[in-house]
Amino acid sequence: MKLAELIARHNELNQALQSNEVWYSFELFPPKTEKGREALRRKLNNLAELEPLIVDITWGAGGSSNTTSLRICKRAQQLHGLNTMLHLTCMSMTREELKQVLQSAKEKGIQNILALRGDVPQGGKKVDNGLNYAVDLVKFIKNIHKDYFGICVAGYPEGHEEAESFEKDLFYLKQKVDAGADMIITQMFFDPNIFLNYKKKCREIGIKCPIIPGIMPIMTYSGFMRMTKFTKVTVPKEITDGLEKVKDDKVKVVDFGVSTCVKMCQRLIQDGVEGIHIYCLNQYKPVERIIKGLSLRSSRYRRSYPWRRSTIQKRRGETIRPVFWAYRPESYIYLTNKWESFPKQEWNGNNTVRKFRKIKPKILKKVHPWGSFAKNRPVNSIDDVTKIFKDFVTGEISSIPWVERRLNLTMQPILEKIVFAIKNKILIINFQPRLNGILSENQLHGFGGPGGYIYQKRYIEFFIAPDRIKLLVKLLKASGNLHYHATNCDGSIVYTNNTEGNVITVTWAVFPGKPIIQPVIVDPKCFQNVWRKEAFDLWIYQWRDLFLEGTKSWKTLQEIRDTYFLVNVVDNDFIHHSVETEYNIYNTLKSFFIKEKQLESQQNENKLKMQKMIEIEKENKYLKSLLEEFQKKQSKEIDEKLDKK
Ligand code: FAD
Repeated sequence: MKLAELIARHNELNQALQSNEVWYSFELFPPKTEKGREALRRKLNNLAELEPLIVDITWGAGGSSNTTSLRICKRAQQLHGLNTMLHLTCMSMTREELKQVLQSAKEKGIQNILALRGDVPQGGKKVDNGLNYAVDLVKFIKNIHKDYFGICVAGYPEGHEEAESFEKDLFYLKQKVDAGADMIITQMFFDPNIFLNYKKKCREIGIKCPIIPGIMPIMTYSGFMRMTKFTKVTVPKEITDGLEKVKDDKVKVVDFGVSTCVKMCQRLIQDGVEGIHIYCLNQYKPVERIIKGLSLRSSRYRRSYPWRRSTIQKRRGETIRPVFWAYRPESYIYLTNKWESFPKQEWNGNNTVRKFRKIKPKILKKVHPWGSFAKNRPVNSIDDVTKIFKDFVTGEISSIPWVERRLNLTMQPILEKIVFAIKNKILIINFQPRLNGILSENQLHGFGGPGGYIYQKRYIEFFIAPDRIKLLVKLLKASGNLHYHATNCDGSIVYTNNTEGNVITVTWAVFPGKPIIQPVIVDPKCFQNVWRKEAFDLWIYQWRDLFLEGTKSWKTLQEIRDTYFLVNVVDNDFIHHSVETEYNIYNTLKSFFIKEKQLESQQNENKLKMQKMIEIEKENKYLKSLLEEFQKKQSKEIDEKLDKK
């Protein structure tokens, strides 16, 4: 979506909520190494949770990182549901190359460009017949793509270093806006007065579009020194002095950077800026602290679905997803990315007929590996495996093969039950709590904007040992309120009380004057035919293969994969609170553990009885033999006596 449209939506929401919260955008750069790219992939997930209005990805002026910038934009849109802006510099690119990049951006669904001239890299060459200034690029984009792209341009509160004069620079800035730019994002500055003065000057010469301050938080001492030297921006004395005092302590430098940034933004917000552009430098933690420090988290309202809806054109209408991939969205996107259209309103039989792509081992290995940690933790028994599942839900481990990201530990009441279940060797890979008409504004579970109500059925999915499945199924069946589906690795054994093809909605929401939305479902066909294979294969491709063939760990994981059952349970009672007497998933599991213990002690008792009986029988046999011997002896003696007589 174009930035101007996003801002309009933001303002509508502000109106509905009677607030005047500012929006914010994050700027990221394409990392040069694969390690850096992997780290950015993880951070994008976290940054997306902060709900920026847009993220923008910088462009290597020399052209070195160009495809990476495009790829990051695509990923951010498709997987993280972010709107993106691609930076594009024109100085070192031919018109043909620029055309190709714009076309490629369009095909990837990118709708915003930050049109820049760029710096000529040292020793770099200016291309023949190329574009000389950013204004030429703005015209070039408009000429080819009319209004398809939203266009931003750069502004320099202290004047651009090559400018003939500050006034001349402003004059050229106006030219860029007159050529079709919708917005200005500024170079970093550290004195709010400089920005406010600049904005005033822009208005005086008739620039009417939004002027968004570019804010660079201080994250490291050396980085700050390098940047300020390069950009030649003014640094107020209190910042230089403050930083000098803490420069040898990395943590204190970040603390200082965060608090300086928060103070500066507060001042700008007071003075009426409508948005803030943060140069994130690919960091998450300090940025999160800044957003929290500014109390801007209510922007969670922007989350329109429980999962992050892609912003690419083709998937924009998508409104429903199966719960199984709730924690593996990347894999779901992969499986479905050949679909021409996506389920809306309802997930019916036809949807499941849609062809899911086959997920090859190569892809299973690639999509969110958790390897480096797991490699160093051998799993010689099911107890070791159970411990890893437990450490994951309690936050000591950040992911497992079935869940790509750290869980939100604020789900405390449910968490206790989950830990209890895991300690009893129920290997949980997915769950959601019961919600009965909570407000859509709710910080943790809310979505879809203000004024709505959210409903949700409890859901739980886990692996369980084969010798326990029959008893569990018996209890699930008896509960009356639960729908379950259990299957083994090759799908040859199935236990279910659901009718074939019966899709169960597990999350839905009601908004005033709108049709009910039901964004999360359980589809048994999809579970059995698609998710089952992936869920079982993850034992192998993401876990077993971290160990040498034949080792204990390798064998343990192979055995679990080959013999365990995958079970999902939907608790249809979303109304009642969890009282001990009530039937629900966790109480059923609790009864299951009790029953198992009873059976176990009964079995032990029986064993003891049996042993006693065997011992008694042995004793009897012995006594019998003694008796027989005695009798024999006696009769022999009698015979002898008789003989003597
Ligand atoms: P222009 O607006 O073209 O201005 C360049 C200079 O020429 C100025 O001095 C201006 O006064 C003068 N000028 C402008 N028009 C004319 C004209 N018609 N006739 C004569 N003089 C003129 N660089 C990157 O390489 N990659 C990035 O991703 C990137 N992102 C940036 C993001 C932001 C928010 C900012 C502020 C800068 C970014 N830069 C990036 C840096 C930018 O490329 C450099 O500052 C570059 O030197 C100027 O680019 P510009 O688009 O501002 O140029």
